[in-house]
Amino acid sequence: MLAAKAIEEYRAGLIRQCKQEKEHVEAQLADLEAKNRDLSAKMKRLGTEIPNPESCPVCYYLTGEVTPVRPIPANPNRPRIDLFRCRNGHDF
Ligand SMILES: [Zn+2]
Repeated sequence: MLAAKAIEEYRAGLIRQCKQEKEHVEAQLADLEAKNRDLSAKMKRLGTEIPNPESCPVCYYLTGEVTPVRPIPANPNRPRIDLFRCRNGHDF
């Protein structure tokens, strides 16, 4: 009888452990699926032109956000290469 009780406790412990591992794996799978969807969407955007030529290419290609840009006033401390900036601070 004691052996049967020990076996049952052992089995119950394994069930708890399996449930915890399964929850952990399912959470990892959900994260990976979300990352995979993000990468697919990003790769699709990278195969296209920016929808609006006056929007930030960094925002669009990284996140899909269409962000207007505005010219940066000339500044003697900054090379004139950076002529535009979006509201997220990307210069190009
Ligand atoms: Zn931007």
